[in-house]
Amino acid sequence: MLSLRRKDIVCQQAVELVTDYLEGALSRRDRRRFETHLKACPNCAAYLEQIRMTIQLAGGIEPDDLSPEATQDLTDLYRRWRSE
Ligand SMILES: [Zn+2]
Repeated sequence: MLSLRRKDIVCQQAVELVTDYLEGALSRRDRRRFETHLKACPNCAAYLEQIRMTIQLAGGIEPDDLSPEATQDLTDLYRRWRSE
């Protein structure tokens, strides 16, 4: 698990925390940081929803089952949004 030392997490950290967040694997503190970031960052909120939808469309798999390739695809998608 990531150890977050900075007060505010940045988008890259938020992206890396998404699966842990959906698994409920974050500490309460990291979870709160993550949610605080999402409130301030529509891009990351949209990214989280995208992952949630992907998991649902895939038939209710656990975030753990997301392949590295799928995670990479979503990260690429996210980067495209960011660059628009
Ligand atoms: Zn963000």
